Amino acid sequence: MIALKKYKYETHMHTSQGSDCSSTSGAKMVERLYELGYAGCFITDHFFGGNTAVRGELAKLPWELRVRLFCQGYDDAKRRGDELGLKVFFGLEFGWRATEFLTYGIDMNFLISHPEIDNMPIQYFADLVHENGGFVVHAHPFREADYIDTIRLYPHRVDGVEIYNCNNRDEYNIRAKQYAESYGLPATGGSDSHHRWCHPNGGVYVDEKFETPFDYLAAMKDKSLTIAERDHSTDYDPGESAWANCVRPSLELLKE
Ligand SMILES: [Zn+2]
Ligand SMILES: [Zn+2]
Repeated sequence: MIALKKYKYETHMHTSQGSDCSSTSGAKMVERLYELGYAGCFITDHFFGGNTAVRGELAKLPWELRVRLFCQGYDDAKRRGDELGLKVFFGLEFGWRATEFLTYGIDMNFLISHPEIDNMPIQYFADLVHENGGFVVHAHPFREADYIDTIRLYPHRVDGVEIYNCNNRDEYNIRAKQYAESYGLPATGGSDSHHRWCHPNGGVYVDEKFETPFDYLAAMKDKSLTIAERDHSTDYDPGESAWANCVRPSLELLKE
């Protein structure tokens, strides 16, 4: 039994306002993390090249409006997190041809100022994020699924590798770990959670609180974090309400 470090952070999670595959609002996701004892989290909704909730008619809107809609999951999570005393950081999951980089240390203004990132090949996106002070983690690099046509690796462009994704089969995680080790890349883990009723309790444990996203990067680099493995023992049956009243991005909310 490993002695657990003091603070737990979720590094990879989705909200229904940002991600089409999520059923739970930012606020409700954060409430669940609070119940589960987390100190904080990074909201990493699927950006426009992935399974974004800014879709259909909304995808035809001007860039800045689309970005503001995309950020509603984070905004909602941050508001609730502030009330509860749970730290919420901004992030996103950038997808390009189903290769995905978790992106941290940038904000909504970065997205608004860079419309060229729409459909940008992922290696150039990583370069742009670095030029602007952010960092990227390769999410589930060895996942195999119908939506993934090939495995692309960018060992010299990523700041870290997600070697433990709670939504991955163990064999994919083991390969990710071998990959990170073979290049000496910093390693981390996350839940990739999408719903409040099946939160797998993943993420990382650390001894010092994260004051900024860069504290997370530092913990990855100096190997001071412990990766939390999946634990579905706190799951519950959501009943028929699972996808009912699912909160999606709202133009009305932008007018307020
Ligand atoms: Zn998803
Ligand atoms: Zn994800």
